[in-house]
Amino acid sequence: MGFSLDNIIRENVKGLKPYSSARDEYVSDGSGMVFLDANENPFENGVNRYPDPQQRSLKAVLADQKGIGPKNMLLGNGSDEVLDLLYRGFCEPRVDNIITMPPTYGMYKVLADINAIENREVLLTEGFEPDVAGILKTVDQRTKLIFVCSPNNPTGNSFQAEGIVALLKGFDGLVVVDEAYIDFANGASWVSRLSEFPNLVVTQTLSKAYGMAGIRLGICMASEEIIEVLNKIKPPYNVNELTQSRALRRVSNASRIESEVREILEQKDLLLKVLPKIECIEKIYPSDANFILVRVDDANKRYNELLKMGVVVRNRSSQPLCGNTLRLTIGTKYENIKLVTALKSLS
Ligand SMILES: *Cc1c(COP(=O)(O)O)cnc(C)c1O
Repeated sequence: MGFSLDNIIRENVKGLKPYSSARDEYVSDGSGMVFLDANENPFENGVNRYPDPQQRSLKAVLADQKGIGPKNMLLGNGSDEVLDLLYRGFCEPRVDNIITMPPTYGMYKVLADINAIENREVLLTEGFEPDVAGILKTVDQRTKLIFVCSPNNPTGNSFQAEGIVALLKGFDGLVVVDEAYIDFANGASWVSRLSEFPNLVVTQTLSKAYGMAGIRLGICMASEEIIEVLNKIKPPYNVNELTQSRALRRVSNASRIESEVREILEQKDLLLKVLPKIECIEKIYPSDANFILVRVDDANKRYNELLKMGVVVRNRSSQPLCGNTLRLTIGTKYENIKLVTALKSLS
């Protein structure tokens, strides 16, 4: 066997050509052309033209920062769109299946349900690591994707590399490593290993460390062949002009983002020193992200008490292996003081 992209692409997608929009056929290089090809309103207001369907300017900067080529990158309307494109490119409804490892990000299952794809769940181990043997036993001929969220939401830990390598080598479909929180982590991104593993897909987002959840921009990085498949099925103008221009401005100011990440991590360290002194907190899980999962004595009760004091956290108690847990996002210094003060007042 072994991995072959041809074996996993949906039959109807194989024959598709990317939709060619007016702006695909001719993209402005800023010279003195007049654009009478796309039925736009000609009066300039900043957004009267269709956006670049391939987001060339933004990709050039992002690809350079990530150390890959622009052809190894696809941008979407949030990672949620990128993940949805992976389903639509590779999973045949009512036939194929995917594997997720709860407790993890809820969208993998939501998207599986929407696309009529069976979601096979193989729980993380007690130490919140992938159960590699269990996963490989669950794989069958119709398994197309395995979602690996690292650092994992809601547990906060990064998975050990050995387990992910074992999945990449032992599975002939795509291993999707969701790195939404990678900019807070100590370890390196899997992007640096794309050339080593033809079945590796890495997703990132501007929603967390980059501070742009509101503009919706997700990043998919993989081999050129995989990106080509996704390009065939993406809506032509999936990343709008306002998103492209705001993102370009912000990612071009990397030092600003880095200093915010540094401050968030400093605040996390401070919280990690104070939380053990809080009576209702029974366990603090290691975190490689911008949130901390804690186990408390009674999560529903503590959640509601915090709400009454104006502090909104996430109750993750319904998740497997996460009984009585709350997920605390690291805020500003002022916000974290408010959280700690509220927690200290609980009896
Ligand atoms: C927040 C988050 C995302 C981000 O999704 P967007 O659609 O890009 O906002 C992706 N994956 C995980 C695991 C997340 O926690």
